[in-house]
Amino acid sequence: MVKRIDHIAIAVNDIDEAVTFYTDVLKLDLSGVEVVTEQKTKVGFFKIGESNIELIQPASDDSPLVKFLETKGPGIHHICLEVDDIQREVEELKKRGARMIDENPRPGAHNTRVAFIHPKSSGGVLIELNQLPEDK
Ligand code: ZN
Repeated sequence: MVKRIDHIAIAVNDIDEAVTFYTDVLKLDLSGVEVVTEQKTKVGFFKIGESNIELIQPASDDSPLVKFLETKGPGIHHICLEVDDIQREVEELKKRGARMIDENPRPGAHNTRVAFIHPKSSGGVLIELNQLPEDK
């Protein structure tokens, strides 16, 4: 079951530079910056109500995000929906004909487990599903 929008992710070339708009102009507080080794990205979060804006920057030259920034430039990268049981959700989506980038959930930021739906199944929008760790 989909519970809420967890975050909207925005691809940037440089988090430190991009952060200034959100902190100085929108007056949001940066909740933290971390490197997600698995996805080769560096991410920064701004909490807004029960959702977040996530800035994502490539953490290495071979990050898949490098190609995205080269072809599309900075901007909205994906929308993340929180689900209660990601393993079951992925199975259900496949049964309903969704094409998954991740056939099985993998580690995401903040000890979450994540899986991406291919934009070809979702009208060109990259959708991430995540499940928060048990203690949250
Ligand atoms: Zn995300």
